[in-house]
Amino acid sequence: MRGFGRLGRETSFDMITVYSDAHRRHAPETIAIRGMIVGNLELPARADALVQAARQAGCDIRPPDAHDDAPLLAVHSQDYIDFLASAYDRWKEAFGEDRAGPYACAHASPTRYPARVPASIQAQVGYYLSGGSAPIDKGTWVAARDAAHCALTAAEHVLDGAGEAYAICRPPGHHAYADLAGGFCYLNNSAIAAQAMAAREGRTAILDIDVHHGNGTQDIFYDRGDVFFASIHADPNEVFPFYVGYADETGEGEGEGANLNLPLPRRSGDDVFLDALDTALAGIADFAPPSLVLSLGFDAYENDPQQEMAVSTEGFREAARRIAALRLPTAIIQEGGYCVDDLGKNLTAFLEGFDKGR
Ligand SMILES: [Zn+2]
Repeated sequence: MRGFGRLGRETSFDMITVYSDAHRRHAPETIAIRGMIVGNLELPARADALVQAARQAGCDIRPPDAHDDAPLLAVHSQDYIDFLASAYDRWKEAFGEDRAGPYACAHASPTRYPARVPASIQAQVGYYLSGGSAPIDKGTWVAARDAAHCALTAAEHVLDGAGEAYAICRPPGHHAYADLAGGFCYLNNSAIAAQAMAAREGRTAILDIDVHHGNGTQDIFYDRGDVFFASIHADPNEVFPFYVGYADETGEGEGEGANLNLPLPRRSGDDVFLDALDTALAGIADFAPPSLVLSLGFDAYENDPQQEMAVSTEGFREAARRIAALRLPTAIIQEGGYCVDDLGKNLTAFLEGFDKGR
């Protein structure tokens, strides 16, 4: 493999880790799920726990490098970026404090029928936000943009010769389409990283082990043959994002055969998860990319509040070892994982397993 010679570091514990405090500015306290207004699981405490564990493991924590919007626009549309950057202020201006809730969120969405893009903020939040789990808070745009810059910075370190780099992205990204937010995600951090890597090296692969299907990532690269996408996730028939993520979605046009979905029964444990991982890794090895983007979720964890799968801390350690054994330069991009108390433990196990696999 072309990337083989770049793996020069001695231990994963000094892994370059890119992190920005700006995530704290995105902190909606509630979301709408199953007809209920509930406490948000996607909390600032998640990233705080991850950066604390990374620091304790000896990772080399750095801020993201400054970027303009060009790498974001390589994945997302200009109108969508403009919407994200202005939605909160437009929402407040249109409705004030009395006629709307604290966050901009969808009232109606243009599903299944032809739709146009009206000019009003109330119409646009439905057009650009796919459901009740992507509210826009005062600091959402700043946090999402910095998270994308964290992913880009990690990708650039890998392109510049680091064997691997880790981006603590919050909000996460893999449910974001080119012009549609959803499932806690606004900008697709992993897609932005992969696009930068494919632009420099001609091709790359993305492995998504978050418990939810990476629907946004799949869609962005679905008709492209230069980016292979493999996703291991809980059966979308029962689990978000519901409408895509099935095994018969294999790509189209030049992308035919470059999309591999491995949906698993809910509450699957380590054995099923690791068997699927082996299938995904074999697909990636066949594609023979020069680098890898890993969409790393810890929400397949057995104690995650959403209870979608039952992977143990040792399961994440072993998964990391097998992924590292591909010996590809790897940009590791944080996605979900909502058991805040155990995020640090699972990240530490992942880092130890990754080091062992190298
Ligand atoms: Zn997830």
